[in-house]
Order: sequence, then structure tokens, then C-alpha cells
Amino acid sequence: MIQYSQPLSELEWIPRPKLTALRRLEIETVEDLLTHYPRRYEDRKHFAAFPYEDSDTPILLCGEVTKTRLVRFGGWKKIFEATLEESNASALSQPLVLRWFNLHYVQKIIATGQRLVVFGKPRLRGERLCMEHPEFEVIENDDEMSVHFRRITPIYPATEGLSQRVFRGMIFSALENLDPDSVPTLLPKSVDLGTREHALHEIHFPTTAAQCDAARKHLVFSEFFAMQLLIGSRRSEAALRTGQMHSAQGEMLEKFLRGLPFDLTSAQERVIEELRRDLASRHQMNRLLQGDVGSGKTVVAIAAILLAVESGSQAALMAPTQILAEQHYAVLCRWLEPLGVRLALRTGARHEESGPLPLFDGGINSSEEKPHIIVGTHALLYEGVSFEDLGLAVIDEQHKFGVSQRARLTAREPAPDVLVMTATPIPRTLTMTVYGDLDVSVIDEMPSDRGKIITAVRERGKLPEVLTFMRRELEAGRQAYVVYPLIDESEKLDVKAAAAEFEQWQERLRPFRCELLHGRIPAPEKQAIMERFRRGETSALISTTVIEVGVDVPNAALMLIENAERFGLAQLHQLRGRIGRGSHKSYCILLSDEQSPETMAKLAVLEKTTDGFAVAEADWEMRGPGDLLGTAQSGLPALKLGNLIKDADLMRQARASATAILSADPRLEAPENQRFRQLIVEQHGRTFSNVS
Ligand code: ADP
Ligand code: MG
Repeated sequence: MIQYSQPLSELEWIPRPKLTALRRLEIETVEDLLTHYPRRYEDRKHFAAFPYEDSDTPILLCGEVTKTRLVRFGGWKKIFEATLEESNASALSQPLVLRWFNLHYVQKIIATGQRLVVFGKPRLRGERLCMEHPEFEVIENDDEMSVHFRRITPIYPATEGLSQRVFRGMIFSALENLDPDSVPTLLPKSVDLGTREHALHEIHFPTTAAQCDAARKHLVFSEFFAMQLLIGSRRSEAALRTGQMHSAQGEMLEKFLRGLPFDLTSAQERVIEELRRDLASRHQMNRLLQGDVGSGKTVVAIAAILLAVESGSQAALMAPTQILAEQHYAVLCRWLEPLGVRLALRTGARHEESGPLPLFDGGINSSEEKPHIIVGTHALLYEGVSFEDLGLAVIDEQHKFGVSQRARLTAREPAPDVLVMTATPIPRTLTMTVYGDLDVSVIDEMPSDRGKIITAVRERGKLPEVLTFMRRELEAGRQAYVVYPLIDESEKLDVKAAAAEFEQWQERLRPFRCELLHGRIPAPEKQAIMERFRRGETSALISTTVIEVGVDVPNAALMLIENAERFGLAQLHQLRGRIGRGSHKSYCILLSDEQSPETMAKLAVLEKTTDGFAVAEADWEMRGPGDLLGTAQSGLPALKLGNLIKDADLMRQARASATAILSADPRLEAPENQRFRQLIVEQHGRTFSNVS
């Protein structure tokens, strides 16, 4: 008998190299293995008759290999062909030719005389009916027949180093030998969906399609229920904490607003009122501020900060990149020092360069006194940055932080109020799920002085025209970003390639001044480069995605993104948010040579709209909602089976169940709720931070 929680390494029948391959998929225990769910099923109780014609739906066939051959063409290239004949061939049956192009391993696996199961689309090629690159499995012996064939057979997500056969075999054995009592069914009593153990059997090896659906329902419900319990417990935990009251008159805020060179939008005003109410209440504030790029979240954050400071507390503002932290710091110094506010900056970089420092004091006042506001990066979380009385923590671009980091900054007593900000829009129906433990405010209005952003997709061949256009804009005094395709800074940065790229751009834009910016440039230098760009001394910044979040230079009205197809829609929208921040008409040019329908559809979305919600919705439609719950964003374990859109009903039920349990027993102290406690503890363990 094997136990549900047992590590796979204790199971001797699993070959050691397979363990390594499994570990790469983060499959370490029996539970992990059994929750690696099938991607689809094949009804192998019934094989189709051999086809006579083309078919657009893939079909499942079983037959015998009667001939194989290797065809060479165009010098190096090879096609491997295997002829498959129906086992009980009738006079009418036609053989099918299976073809693989340049796949050496296939020819090593398939041989004459074997029986094969294949899945693919038959295509007429001249006289012959062919199937190109079908999925296939060799039937090796009759023992195996009962596992892999003559049933509704699970097909798993393709993985490197583990064939369907091996995967299915392992899962089959694990289920055969599983101790049923070791599998906890973690569902509320009110829901009758059978045992988890039964559901696991049926999801992998369904007896009928209906049983399979029922199993899926059980497992999706469990997944959602666990998630809602975690969200709910975070919420009730927060409600139990003693908060702080920040009920300032708002004189500083008044002064600050009067000094601004613009009027607030009514959305900004509304949100500031919401924050004022939260701050003044005795409960801890836990609020998410959503607003599209450029909607003016920073001003709102400053308003909250001033209310906290005026009521005698310290405030922290944390940003995900050094560039952004420095920018916030500069803005705050400019706006707040005249009001007598003391500021400090703390970033990892500043620390590195000069050894452990006392807080860098940027304020006008003596460094003896504690700062009112500390701005910084993740460095705020570590290295003994001490807050004497932190009353408000603001986290900008919160999707770049993990929940555990948020917790780290705010888990002190008495609990500081927390404001997290994001430009990643999520449909309102889903915010409940993803940010269920936060209250949500939305800035749904852009400042009225904004110039339009025009977005255009161009092939690389059009670069000369694009350059002419760019030069015209630069001559008119605008500035430009050129974003080059090193998707993220962790990707090994080839400094030489970047330098070559940069030289080319200097050449192309001569005589305008260009500078190169990427993550490997030492911090002080990076800051100096940004500063020159901000002051307009540099016309163009040739940059990686280090400028993706938050950077605000209103005169930059032009952006060119190379190899745009390599970025995701959300990321392109964020990048594009760097322009259109002033009153000039702005232009975003997406260079791409990829002509695939998916890429063209993706880029076309950006041509059509500048609305973040519309972009996000299109993004979800194209990617499916599977990716929606990024761990970094939600701090929740990724869903393995549930689909937030398709299964929305189950989610609502799960939420209701979880809420009912928690409102009766917020700390889960009742004996019958002990099993759920464990669920939460376990999930906390899996909630890791993921900082980009
Ligand atoms: P984001 O929401 O993307 O963080 P920012 O807070 O950086 O946006 O604001 C973008 C720019 O708009 C900044 O230069 C800011 O000073 C300016 N801004 C903010 N609110 C307004 C407003 N009501 N009217 C005009 N400009 C504004
Ligand atoms: Mg911002």
C-alpha cells in the first residue's frame, strides 16, 4: 500500500532517472503525481474505421505497421514514412501513410509488424491518404492493453523525458496500490460529491464520460474551496488584528493638492475619499487600487501617505525596481519637501555600493530625526530597515511582488494600513476571487489632458520609413524609447549584443543623442541615464524592459518595440504605458516579422485599443484563463483543473461554503474544522514569492 503523501522517491518501482524528470515538473509526491491531470481523453474502446478522405477532426485509429521507409529530400532533410493497415482489413480498407519530417527518434521507435494507436487528421496527398506527425503509441504486449487501451484513456500534457505510456503506467500503478484511507476528502459536509479517492480514479481512468465529469466536479470544487478558505482566512485574520486610526484633518493634503499643476480627476477624488475613510477607521485597511497605466495612481498614494503622516505615523512606499523607486523618491521630494516632510530612500543598490548605511537622508532636515516617508525597493523588507511606527504601507505595481512580501512589510503590531496598487486590470467578477482578501478601488478615468496614442504594427522591412518618421518626431522635440527584445532581465543578457544593437541605433538616429539602458548597468549609472533622459538631454533611450513599469517621462511620445511578437499582450500594454503621458500625440510602433495568425491577432488588439481592460480581456480570451492566477499576483496556488470562467458557478458555491464555515468559526478552532486548518497551513507553505 502506498500513502497519498508519500514521496515518490520511496517507491522502488519508479526508475531513478524518471524521478529526475518528474522533479522537473515539480512532481515529488504521490499526491503531486495524482494531481497531474489528463489534458484530454481518447475513447479507445472504439477505434474509428480507417478513413477514405480528409477529415478536419482528428480521429483515433488502431492498426498494424506493414512497411516503413525513409525518404530524403532537399539534401539533408528526411521524411520517415510508416504504412498502417487496419487489423481486420476488409476488401475496401485503404492503408494510411504516417509521416514524420526530420524526427529521428520516431524511426527508432516504429518498426514493421508493430501494432500502433494513432491520433491525427487524415489528409489526402495525391493518391495517398496520409497523417502527418500524428500522436502515436506502440502496443507492446497484451498485459498493457488493459492500462492503455480498451478504455477511455487519459492523455497527459506533453512532457520532456516522460512518454504518455510511462506517465500513464505510473499513475495507474499508484492508483492500484493507493491506501484509500490516506486520501483526505477536504470538502464541507454540506457538499456531497463522493470521496476524493474515487474522484482521482475516475479522473485518470474514467469508467464512463459521466463519471469523469462527476470526478472533475469534485476535484474542481475541492480546489476552489481550498482557495476560498485561504482567502477567507486571510480576510478574517486581518479583521481580527488591531488596526490604527489615522484621522488627520487633512491640512497637508489640502496644501499638496493646491500646489499640483493639475486638477484631480473625479475618479481620483472618489478614491481618495475611500482611502480617507479606511484610514480613519479602527480596522486595518487592506485595499487594492486598480487603475490603468497613466491613470494617476501615484498622486492618490501620496494623498493617503500625507493623511497618515499628518496623523503622526510613518509611511513606506515600495516599488519593484530601483528606477521606479528613485523616480518616486524624486517626485515626492519635489512635492513634499516644501511641506516640511522628511523623506528617505532605501534601495538594495544604494546599500551595496556603500556598505551598510544609515538611512540615506534626502530631506532638508537633520538626519537625526526619523523620516516621515521611506521610499524603496525590496530592500525595505530586509537589512534592518526599521520603522518606528509604520502606519501605512503602499506597494506600487503589486503584481510584481509576492503575497509573502506584502505580508512581510505589514505583519507588525499594531497592523499598518495597506494600500497596494496595480495597473493589471482584472474583470470585476474575478477580482473577488483573485484579490478576495482585499477591498478594491478603481480609477476608471484618465486625466483629460492626455494626447492620443496611435499604435501601428510594421514589418521590419519598413524600418527605413519608420526611421524617417522617428526622426521627424525627434526634430519636433519629442523623445523616444526603443525597446529591444530581451524579454526579461533575468534572461542572460548578452552585453556585447546589446552594445552592437546600441551602436546601430546611434547610427540610425544620428545626430540625436541616444543612451543604452539595461538591468546590468550599475545602479548609480542607471539612475544618471534616466535623469538625463528625464531632463531631455538624451533624445532616445535604447532599453530593455527595465522601463516596463511606472517610468514617467511626459515628453517621451514615441516608442518602438522590436520583435514585438515575443512579448505578451499585457506586457506590451504596460510598455506602451510609458508614452502618452503628456499632451503630445504619441506613437507606438510594433516591429514584427512574424506572420502567424495568432501573432497578428495579438498585435492587432493593441492597434485597436488603448484601454487596459479591453487588452486584458482579449489577452484572457487568447491565452485562456489558466495563466490568470499568476502566483506572484495572487499568492494563491495555481489552479490545476478549475477554469475561472467556465467553472464560475462552482467558484461561487465554494466561496459560499468557505464563508459560512469561517463566519461561524473564524479561527477554525472547532474539532470538525481541524482538517481545514491543515489545508490552509499547507497552502501557505506553497505560497511562494515570485519577484521579477
Ligand atoms: P500610474 O497610474 O501609471 O502610476 P502616474 O501616477 O505615474 O500613473 O501618473 C502619470 C502622470 O500623470 C504623472 O506625470 C502625473 O503627475 C500625471 N497626473 C496624475 N493625475 C493627473 C491629473 N488628474 N491630471 C493630469 N495629470 C495627472
Ligand atoms: Mg505608477
